[in-house]
Amino acid sequence: MDFQLSMEQRIFRDSVRKLARDHFSQKAFTWDKEDKYPWENAKILAKNELMGIRIPEEDGGQGGTLMDAVIAIMEITKVCPHTADVFQAGNFGAIQQIAFLGNDFLKKEVLPKLLSGETIITAAMSEPNAGSAVTDLETTARFDGDEVVINGSKIFNSNGNHAGYFCVWCRFGEGVASSGAVIVPATAPGFSRGKVERHMSGENHVALYFDDCRVAKDYVLMSEQGFKKLFQVFNVERLGNASRSLAVAELAYEMALRHTRERHQFNRPICEFQGIQWKLADMKLRIEQSRWVLFKAVVEADRGLPSALDSSLAKLSCNETAEYVCREAIQIHGGYGISTEYPLAYLYARARGWMVAGGLPRRYLAVVSANGRQNR
Ligand SMILES: Cc1cc2nc3c(=O)[nH]c(=O)nc-3n(C[C@H](O)[C@H](O)[C@H](O)COP(=O)(O)OP(=O)(O)OC[C@H]3O[C@@H](n4cnc5c(N)ncnc54)[C@H](O)[C@@H]3O)c2cc1C
Repeated sequence: MDFQLSMEQRIFRDSVRKLARDHFSQKAFTWDKEDKYPWENAKILAKNELMGIRIPEEDGGQGGTLMDAVIAIMEITKVCPHTADVFQAGNFGAIQQIAFLGNDFLKKEVLPKLLSGETIITAAMSEPNAGSAVTDLETTARFDGDEVVINGSKIFNSNGNHAGYFCVWCRFGEGVASSGAVIVPATAPGFSRGKVERHMSGENHVALYFDDCRVAKDYVLMSEQGFKKLFQVFNVERLGNASRSLAVAELAYEMALRHTRERHQFNRPICEFQGIQWKLADMKLRIEQSRWVLFKAVVEADRGLPSALDSSLAKLSCNETAEYVCREAIQIHGGYGISTEYPLAYLYARARGWMVAGGLPRRYLAVVSANGRQNR
């Protein structure tokens, strides 16, 4: 058992850190405010071989490990969380489902456009009547000759107004076993998007509508019996969520630590107050605990797909740590922490959002505990 990053991993981490500082820091924290998608940063990531890190070289990826992707997304998040969304889309999101489950057509037609940073694909799972219970989804797909016809709607689609493709989870028949997914291009007839809405962090999301939407059947990712496989790959996305959460916690902690040394009240730096020191100790403890839960899940996943148990533990731990650390960092900053002129309120809102996005790890863990299952 080795708790250190290897020499290669440390060199890689430092190079991504430098790239992020050199290219992404100037416009960091402005993208959501200006409602722009950082396409220019997507191109920089692609040029520097930071898209599809874990995707095999024969499919156009970098042939690296999930740990490499985690190291990189954490460094980028700490400089520019919105560029980390781009990295998430190009490494952890529905792109992984095409890489793991896609046919030759999808790998040749769609994957290169995602890897080059030309466009993104989003996961279209949530529906008005199917949130935590993705098993209840109502969007349907039926084969019609060489095409598949989709009907239904999706909500909360992150960056859906910018995406060129959607990984649409749908039913090909009755019951959960009939669930699968179709990759739908934004140009498909019968497809439309709702108005742009916002989460409390300023991140945008849109509703997606499929009204006899037709695509060639080559775009089917998984038809019946796809649910379990789709979910296994979705655990990669959850580890991206967990990694960004942990990075936000680290950033908030570093900001808080610096502030306690610089800010003076009652004629001394506030780091000298024991109440503040205890807060910092608890923040640090939670960060270190979450790091090892996350890294364990990721190292195990590099031997295959992440297990549902490890990903749930990692997501739950990192989400709660990020929310806690950002909350305490805001308190330590006083009025500056609350002001939207400073990044902490944004970081808190992002961390809070990640607790809801990607489903309910605690529910899964409760079910596993109740069944006495190990699921390894
Ligand atoms: C920032 C953000 C980004 C998102 N991006 C996307 C995206 O790109 N694509 C996409 O498809 N979706 C996305 N979502 C939607 C997200 O997946 C859903 O919000 C989430 O799955 C919860 O579903 P819901 O909102 O319908 O809440 P519900 O499922 O209605 O849950 C309501 C409440 O009930 C609780 N609850 C539900 N079931 C149980 C249970 N069994 N036991 C105990 N409590 C329970 C929940 O914890 C919650 O507190 C995003 C959400 C957020 C916040």
